[in-house]
Amino acid sequence: MRAVVLGLAKSGVAAARLLAREGAEVVAVDRRRANELSEVVRELLPLGVRFALGSDEPAHLPPADLCVVSPGVPWTGPAASALRARGAKVMAEVEYAYRFLEEPVVGVTGTNGKSTTTALTAHLLAEAGLSVFAGGNLGTPLCARVLDGGRRDVSVVELSSYQLEGIETFRPRVAVLTNLAPDHLDRYPSVEAYWQAKARIFLNQREDDFAVLNGDDENVLRLYGGRARVFRFSRRAAPDAGAFDDGRALRARGLPGQSAEEIYVDLSPALRGAHGRANAMAALLAARLAGADPAAIARGLATFPGLPHRLQTVGRFGGAEWIDDSKATNVESAQVALQAFEGPIIWIAGGRGKGAPYAPLRPLLPGRVRLLLTIGEDGPRIREELGDLVPAVECQTVEAAVRRAAEEVRPGEVVLFSPACASFDQFRNFEERGRFFAAQVRALG
Ligand code: ADP
Repeated sequence: MRAVVLGLAKSGVAAARLLAREGAEVVAVDRRRANELSEVVRELLPLGVRFALGSDEPAHLPPADLCVVSPGVPWTGPAASALRARGAKVMAEVEYAYRFLEEPVVGVTGTNGKSTTTALTAHLLAEAGLSVFAGGNLGTPLCARVLDGGRRDVSVVELSSYQLEGIETFRPRVAVLTNLAPDHLDRYPSVEAYWQAKARIFLNQREDDFAVLNGDDENVLRLYGGRARVFRFSRRAAPDAGAFDDGRALRARGLPGQSAEEIYVDLSPALRGAHGRANAMAALLAARLAGADPAAIARGLATFPGLPHRLQTVGRFGGAEWIDDSKATNVESAQVALQAFEGPIIWIAGGRGKGAPYAPLRPLLPGRVRLLLTIGEDGPRIREELGDLVPAVECQTVEAAVRRAAEEVRPGEVVLFSPACASFDQFRNFEERGRFFAAQVRALG
C-alpha cells in the first residue's frame, strides 16, 4: 500500500511511524524544507520512509492509496483535495490510530477547557485504578499510543475540530463537548461550520454510548444530533441525568447503576472558578460513565494537580498567592480567570494583542482588581481601554511587573498573571512566558 502523510509535526511523524510498521510504502510530505526538518528525517529515514519536502503543491504529490492528514494541515486544502480526487482514501491521524485501538475511548472536544477536562478525566480514571492513556491533540498523538502497545483500560483523547473533520469510524464510548464559542475563523468559512466540525465527535456513537453536553450552552444543545444517551452538566438548572453545580457542591444524578445522588464538595484549587467547576462536572461525568467509582472521583477532584500555566499557583511571596495563567492568550480566557477570584487582585496583562477589544473585561475590574500592571506591545492599549477604572502602571516587561507587584502586594491578595494576549512579542510561546514569570516569582525569595 502506498501511503502519504501530510504534515510532519508530532502527529504526522507518529502516523508515518505507524504506517511504516504496518508495511506501507510511506512518503512524508511537508511544505517545510529538509533543513528545517532534519530531526524528523533522521528519525523516519531508517524506517524506510521517503520524503517529498519543500512543497505540498498537488503537482509534487506522489501517488497514494491512503493519505493520513496531520491536524495542522487543512482537510479541504489543495493537497488533501488533490489526493482525494486521485482516488486516495484520506483520513485524520486520529482516525488511522483509532482503527488499531482495542480499549474504549473517551473523546473530549469544545472551544475551551479541552486539555483540562482531558487531563482531569484521565486523573479520575487512574484514581479508580484503571490504566489510562491521555493524549491526542495535546501531548502524545494517538498513533504514538498505538505504537507503544501494551494493554490499557481506557484512552482519553483530546480532539480539535481539525482532527474531527477527518474521522470516519472513530466512535468514542463517551464523547464530551465542553462548550462552543466563536474561534478559528481563519480556517473555517463560518462559526457554524467550525461548530459542526466539533459536533462530529458524536457522529458514530450508538444508543449504548454516552454523550456529555454542556447544558448551559445553547449552541451545544442545538447542534447535538447524536444517538447516544445524553448527560448534561449545568450551573443553572439540575438536569435529570448529569451534574449540577449549586455553588457549593457538584451533584451527580441519573447515572447508570447509581443508587443515590452523589455530592462532591472538595475541589482542588486547579478547578476554581465557574469554568473550572464546569470542567470538573464534564470530567466527573465522563469518568463515571467510563467506569470510575464515586469514591475515586471524590479523591481525584480534590487532588487534581492542574495543568501548567492555567491558573497555576507558583508562589506565596508577601502573603499573597502568585498565579501563572500564561495560557490566557485571549480576552475570554482572562475573563474566566478574573471571574475565578473575588479579589483584591494585582493583575498583570499584555503582550501581543489579537485585535479584539478589552472592553468586555470592564465590568470585572471595579472592586476586584486593585492594580493593573501592563506589559508588552499591547500594554498601552490595555491601559487606554481599562485604565480609567483602576490604577494602572505601564511596566513593559514581566520582570518589571513582578518587581512592581512585589512592592505593592498585601497579604491575602492575589497576583494574577493572565495576559489576555499572545506571548510572541517577547517570548517563543505561552509556556516559555509562564516559566519565566514563575522563575521571577521564585527569585523574590
Ligand atoms: P483548551 O485545551 O480547550 O485550550 P485548556 O483546558 O487548556 O483548554 O484551557 C485553556 C484556557 O481556557 C484556560 O486557561 C482558561 O482561561 C480557559 N478555559 C478553560 N476551561 C474553560 C471553560 N470551561 N470555559 C471557558 N473558558 C475556559
